[in-house]
Amino acid sequence: MVNPVRLGDRILAVFEDGRSFLFTVQEGKLQTHHGVIDLASLVGKSYGSVCETHTGKRFYIMKPRFVDEIYKMKRQTQIVYPKDMGFILLMLDVHEGRTVIDAGVGSGAMCAALARAVGTTGKVYAYERREEFKRLAEENLKKWGLMDRVEIKLKDISEGFDETVDAIFLDVPDPWNYIRQCYEALNGSGNLAIVCPTTNQVQRVLEELSKFPFLNVEVWESLFRQYKPVAERLRPFDRMIAHTAYMVFARKTMDWRD
Ligand code: SAH
Repeated sequence: MVNPVRLGDRILAVFEDGRSFLFTVQEGKLQTHHGVIDLASLVGKSYGSVCETHTGKRFYIMKPRFVDEIYKMKRQTQIVYPKDMGFILLMLDVHEGRTVIDAGVGSGAMCAALARAVGTTGKVYAYERREEFKRLAEENLKKWGLMDRVEIKLKDISEGFDETVDAIFLDVPDPWNYIRQCYEALNGSGNLAIVCPTTNQVQRVLEELSKFPFLNVEVWESLFRQYKPVAERLRPFDRMIAHTAYMVFARKTMDWRD
């Protein structure tokens, strides 16, 4: 059997009604709406195979994707939504070996996405001013095995950043107040991404960005609509997440002209 389930693995148990449960394989039992799963009994089974609860209800043993972890993660703040995450990673050009600042870390969703992207040779420096969010982010990142790539600092970013980096991701309620700190912490040609939920915030960010020699200032919004996957009645779901945040991007130049 190739790569069977082991103790300590993360598992997504998916029932035929679409409900799913995310857990770590260990001694113990998990109560579901379809009966109890004996967690240790999954050890040795193949990923993708079918199991049953004590009442005989079938579920599939799947490897959780990172997106499953994000949707089910413990959070106490707003998080960056998966629909925006991928684009931000591309616009920040975060990849193996890069250094990135994440501020504030909040629940750690975007921090985890950045940590996955920088790989084992890169580094994420995360800033958070509230102890309880720092702890929550650490708990989430540890569970996903990413803490070795991340350093979380309990620090208000108004004091500035301690390092210079290739990219900065800024997600705080008043981002316009930290544009100088971001400019100073970016390497020449480095990439900045800022998310804000309202256009008022975007306007203030743009005003502040214009005081520094940034290039390629862009404002984006991503609209995603999911469809019911029924071949003979193909149509969108009735409800959608209509708005998450605006994304502002900019690139640092050294061209001071004033
Ligand atoms: N991007 C995060 C969510 C960030 S929520 C995620 O995907 O999970 C915004 C966070 O910024 C909050 O935790 C808040 O405490 C922190 N924050 C706000 N202002 C800050 C500042 N000036 N310095 C450091 N952290 C700050």
